[in-house]
Amino acid sequence: MVADESTCYLDGNSLGRLPRASLRAVADVMEHEWGRDLIAGWDGWIDEAQHVGDLIGRAALGAAAGQVLAIDTTSANFYQLCAAALRARPGRSTVVSDAANFPTDRYILEGICRDRGLRLVLVDDFDGEGDVSLDRLASVLNDDVALVTLSVVQYRSGALHDVAGMTAAIQRHAALALWDASHAVGVVPLEFDRWGVDLAVGCTYKYGNSGPGAPAWLYVAAHHLDALQVPIQGWFAQADQFGMGPSFERAPGIRGFQVATPPIVGLRCVREGFRMIERAGIGAIAAKAARATAMMVSLHDAWLAPLGCTLVTPRDPARRGGHLTFHHPQAEQLSRAMRAANVIGDYRAPNQVRVACSPLATSYVEVWDGFARIRDLLSSGGHLRAAPPSSRVT
Ligand SMILES: *Cc1c(COP(=O)(O)O)cnc(C)c1O
Repeated sequence: MVADESTCYLDGNSLGRLPRASLRAVADVMEHEWGRDLIAGWDGWIDEAQHVGDLIGRAALGAAAGQVLAIDTTSANFYQLCAAALRARPGRSTVVSDAANFPTDRYILEGICRDRGLRLVLVDDFDGEGDVSLDRLASVLNDDVALVTLSVVQYRSGALHDVAGMTAAIQRHAALALWDASHAVGVVPLEFDRWGVDLAVGCTYKYGNSGPGAPAWLYVAAHHLDALQVPIQGWFAQADQFGMGPSFERAPGIRGFQVATPPIVGLRCVREGFRMIERAGIGAIAAKAARATAMMVSLHDAWLAPLGCTLVTPRDPARRGGHLTFHHPQAEQLSRAMRAANVIGDYRAPNQVRVACSPLATSYVEVWDGFARIRDLLSSGGHLRAAPPSSRVT
């Protein structure tokens, strides 16, 4: 990993660090594949979204080959799979999600439901910050529900849902479950096949360390592959792609979910990121996340709670991912002061700070030093003397 010694980078849940191997991988594909082979490169590249998808599935999702594609963005994949799920449940008119779910998911659902005249039910637990309990979910399930979609790990609170238990509850009503694993993939062990997950999406640039805007992924359980149809019928989903025939005939398997040309350069970064996860082992990665978040909880309680901070994330390590969220009444000023002190976390309006350990890239020392600097800023009042807001996106 490329790192600056004085920086405590506690934002790997938002954008992972750059692996050195990715620098070489990108240089190689430019020089030795695109640069040299030109169009002939497609002989090797044509199935790359499937190959990298299989790697993600094996390394991080508990998914057997042939169910994952590494392609497009999480948002686009989410739209595609929501629409495919709704098409498979005609006559049902309710979609369920969560008021604390990631904005892109909520906005896309709002549009889908408006366009199709469906009812969107947003479960609202704990003032929109916590997780959705199984009981709360059960109270909104019935046989009119076509689709339920939730995040595996809540982006704000860091709470981890019971994916297996909730999926089973959803399936008891013959609804489809679509999980957004963006804040979980690469840090929480996922067992999609064993848990009976129907559908899932997620990104690669958080704990996957695959780079800003790197291709995302989608997962479709084997038994749904031939029954579901995404709305965009692109030429990469055509059975005889280069026959270029007059009408669409869907390719079997996961290829039937691919719209278009895979982004080869970005996929090489995804490949390096998930090769690292596979080598380290998701079990060892998750064990470090559990230890590091436990350390963050202890440091929060010892140093930050007496200075006005309150923990938002669950205290039970089995109920969280790799990031921790705390409240402070001056969270915005504190976040700016943290940047100036080289402690990179992020701010979520109106009063939360998020900090993470991305196990492959973040050291325990970084976590310790970062928390010590936050403590010093709060105890000295330094967070109130930070520079005024810049235009930079946080
Ligand atoms: C980060 C994140 C996304 C990102 O979506 P993009 O399409 O990559 O912009 C989506 N959903 C969740 C839950 C996320 O955490």
